[in-house]
Amino acid sequence: MRDWMGRDIHYLRISLTERCNLKCIYCREETAFCKAKEELTLDDLTELMQAFTVLGIRRVRLTGGEPLIRKDLEQIVHMISSFPQIHDLSMTTNAQGLANRVARLHQLGLKRINISLDSLDPERYRSMTRGGDFNQVMCGIDAALAEGMPVKINAVLVRGENEEEADDFIQLAREYPVDVRFIELMPFSALGTQDKQRVLNSEILARHPELCAVPPRDPSQPSEDYQAEGFAGRVGFISPISHKFCSHCSRVRLTSEGKLRMCLGNDRETDLRPWLHAGTEQLTQVLRDAIYHKPEAHAFESNICAQRAMNQIGG
Ligand code: SAM
Repeated sequence: MRDWMGRDIHYLRISLTERCNLKCIYCREETAFCKAKEELTLDDLTELMQAFTVLGIRRVRLTGGEPLIRKDLEQIVHMISSFPQIHDLSMTTNAQGLANRVARLHQLGLKRINISLDSLDPERYRSMTRGGDFNQVMCGIDAALAEGMPVKINAVLVRGENEEEADDFIQLAREYPVDVRFIELMPFSALGTQDKQRVLNSEILARHPELCAVPPRDPSQPSEDYQAEGFAGRVGFISPISHKFCSHCSRVRLTSEGKLRMCLGNDRETDLRPWLHAGTEQLTQVLRDAIYHKPEAHAFESNICAQRAMNQIGG
């Protein structure tokens, strides 16, 4: 469907849980306590998908928290991919424990995977994620590639932590058939609100004149893509702070406890729980009204920290 600005909204990000087995330094505080909030069940999600597909949702990305934590992830993937209207189902994950589940997920309809990886140094990776196992990420990437799935690597550079690894990540896209995307640090934690720790994507590009802009894989994608001769993959820049991409945004988000959030950078939400089990028609109407009023643009540049941490929204 189209919102009040005429944007075609066809992409839904579903956060399956706010729980995560890692505590990335820019995503949530070390001491943050994840309440075992009521997560939407498989039945709730099925009902919501029925309504979303009526409204023209055609692409779904699963995220969190960490989606692999959901024990019924396989059933959820099967349910969503069974909707004939959904032609693209993907997932964003930290890849801890991905390697031995990816083949089954692929078989059930998961088409693409984005893997978060902020350091190619195992020790630094462990410290930035507060406990992550680098080998599991690499095994997860290998297993997804062996399945023939398109893989994107998401990296957030933080000054004083991993910013000197930008060149190594670019090298990764030269050698491996993966798209490496640099995401500018957003204000979702105390760390994210500190300008001095944010590495602007323009800084990286300025150091790599060999990279040439290439057409996007999808016109509504948030990243600007680059490549150089001999590269197996692409280098993408997602620049929500230095360069807004809201005018062609096609996304809305569903939080794990049933709030529809029209924009990552705007705290306005619609609680869908009261409308569950009231019938698809009523639920569809509530969704239609909420989506129509999607905010014009996010306001990350004002550096006001969002009320929810990233793991509570779904990145
Ligand atoms: N657990 C999964 C993962 O690690 O990919 C999915 C959820 S995570 C919140 C989704 C994405 O959000 C990750 O790629 C992560 O790097 C990104 N992210 C989290 N906090 C961020 C922040 N403050 N600024 C920019 N990106 C952030």
